[in-house]
Amino acid sequence: MDLQTPLSKISRPLKMYAGRLEKLGIVTVSDLLYHVPHRYDDFSLTSSIARLQPGEIVTVKGTVLEIKNEYTRRAKPIQKALVVDDTGSITVTWFNQPFLTRVIKPNMTLALSGKVEWFGKTKTLTAPSYEILSENGEAIHTGRLVPIYPETAGVTSKWLRRQIYMLLSQEPVEEYLPEDILKKNNLIGLPKALQTVHFPETLEDAESAKNRLAFDELLFLQMKATRRRREWEVVRRGHVFKVQPFQKEIDLLWENLPFSLTLAQRNASHAIFQDLEKEKPMNRLLQGDVGSGKTVVAAAAMYLAFLNDYQSVLMAPTEILAQQHFKTVSGLLEPLGVKVDLVTGSKKYPMSNVKYQIHTNNDKGEKKKLVKLDIVHLAFDILVGTHAVLYEQVQFTKLGLVVIDEQQRFGVEQRSLIRQKGDHPHVLTMTATPIPRTVALTIYGDLDLSYLDEMPKGRKIVKTWLVPTIKRNGAYEWIRKQIKEAGSQAFIICPFIEQSETMQTVKAASVEYERLKNEVFPDLNLGLLHGKMKTKEKDDVLLAFREKQYDILVATPVVEVGIDIPNATVILIEAAERFGLAQLHQLRGRVGRGEKQSFCLLFTESTSDMTINKLKALETTYVGAQLAELDLRLRGPGELYGTLQSGIPELKVASFSDVALIQRAKRAADELYPKLTTDKQLQKAFSSLQTTSVSPD
Ligand code: ADP
Ligand code: MG
Repeated sequence: MDLQTPLSKISRPLKMYAGRLEKLGIVTVSDLLYHVPHRYDDFSLTSSIARLQPGEIVTVKGTVLEIKNEYTRRAKPIQKALVVDDTGSITVTWFNQPFLTRVIKPNMTLALSGKVEWFGKTKTLTAPSYEILSENGEAIHTGRLVPIYPETAGVTSKWLRRQIYMLLSQEPVEEYLPEDILKKNNLIGLPKALQTVHFPETLEDAESAKNRLAFDELLFLQMKATRRRREWEVVRRGHVFKVQPFQKEIDLLWENLPFSLTLAQRNASHAIFQDLEKEKPMNRLLQGDVGSGKTVVAAAAMYLAFLNDYQSVLMAPTEILAQQHFKTVSGLLEPLGVKVDLVTGSKKYPMSNVKYQIHTNNDKGEKKKLVKLDIVHLAFDILVGTHAVLYEQVQFTKLGLVVIDEQQRFGVEQRSLIRQKGDHPHVLTMTATPIPRTVALTIYGDLDLSYLDEMPKGRKIVKTWLVPTIKRNGAYEWIRKQIKEAGSQAFIICPFIEQSETMQTVKAASVEYERLKNEVFPDLNLGLLHGKMKTKEKDDVLLAFREKQYDILVATPVVEVGIDIPNATVILIEAAERFGLAQLHQLRGRVGRGEKQSFCLLFTESTSDMTINKLKALETTYVGAQLAELDLRLRGPGELYGTLQSGIPELKVASFSDVALIQRAKRAADELYPKLTTDKQLQKAFSSLQTTSVSPD
């Protein structure tokens, strides 16, 4: 069976459900087979009817003697059947499913899983799952470990189970991994793994099946990364920068800074300089929280490019950021003789790049016009900008280094376009998204990594407290004092209900807003901000908050508070246990932008020691990547990575916290990648790798 076949080509039911399945991300045979159960109901013990005890959850097998509809006093239909096995008989009752009498007929053999209860004075099996057993008698919904799937509206576990069972009973899936890889990594075969993950005999079997499928999932990511890495490595364009001859100039740059570099900044710069000295273009990711000082590290790299007679470009996702970078970079480097220019959507051309000339139109008289002439090359050493740097009119003569800030905000396309402006320039990407190393290893396996895991000295940290429930009112009082006496403002973040903001979230936020306004802070001005508001409304609310018309802004967590509000020094987060630590860290980053000491108050109703201890980590740890790492270790395997953090894919079976498996998959990818050209099986399994763009992204 070909795993890549679209399901709609397999059978009529699958075709009819294609739309619903797509909502679950299921399109191909492979998608459906890899849609693994998130748990199993244990209906594996079949009981004899005579021995059933009220209160038990059981599975029985028996023959239907009779089945009929009856009506309750309120005219609700109930369905009653009498089922017998060798030992006795039992009444089976369902509610409100009149069609059952058309489906279940006397003399059929049934398996029934459910709870035994007293119904009046008779023992009865109430509303059990039922399954009509076929000739061979194998049960898929009862009498075994029954798989339960993540569902969506209109696709039940029962339906999925049946479809997967049918798929698996067709021609088996072929193994594609070589024997030695299976052995070395203690993996069971693919056909068996797929069969077992859906219909295991024991939970241990299910685990080893999941382990095999998780390996495959990680291997695929690693193969992708390996492909990008190999493609990058074959490029040898020789933009080799020299460092040694310019040591004096570089030292001068460092000495001119109004601060001394952190150790993390020094290490990152060192690694970058080493990359730049190589023939192979650099491909490095620099991660560091907001404020960790990434810009000066990038500036040093661009300065080295300048010293080596190369141009650099620094691309930022927004105009405000681009302008800020322009100010910082020109402030640092212009005194050293570097020409820095800016391009954004509203400033289309680097001014130094365009020549104007007075043009006279001779036919129609003396009208004089200013006409733009050619683009002048090499007018800048460093160009800072938004995606406007991609415009055709922006030309580089000798682009040696590309720096991309907040790389996840740009598409693959844009990232590759900017590189094409030069001949395989070095690339430095930067991000403030806290990515644990294991995750980076999986999804950015082709990048070299530098972490700025240390804040510059003297930075005011956001003081964080986990507030016990009994001190809730005290906390409100304290906030009032901060507002009235210190003239501060506060954010109150409503509980996190769903990933994407729905009406439910908005309603909860509105209720909390009314409560706070009327009952807790009737003497203060409160504003409300949520994701369902129009952009204009949001901007108005934020502006009003900035202008201090509100003392407190009540907001939903998914709302991006885009602008800095330096006067907001308090953030209170409700139901903190529902967030990941890294998310909480990003939320608290909304305060602490100004000179004043800022505070973060975490509320939780949870009494679990584990949760409390986990949240307490925020009181002492202030580095995003460290918190993300902790997040990963504290969550059970199989749990999804917080999707609020952009750019990180969800794993279906594997877990980012399974470091050992990630490393094995990486080793296997290194071994298998060279065999892709000769091994037919591997080629087929990784065919989607081949078809993607040739240029590394
Ligand atoms: P990031 O881009 O990582 O969020 P920035 O590069 O914008 O951070 O730096 C934030 C601020 O910290 C800037 O004002 C910068 O001048 C300052 N800064 C950077 N490095 C240091 C340092 N080692 N010591 C003190 N201040 C620093
Ligand atoms: Mg920055």
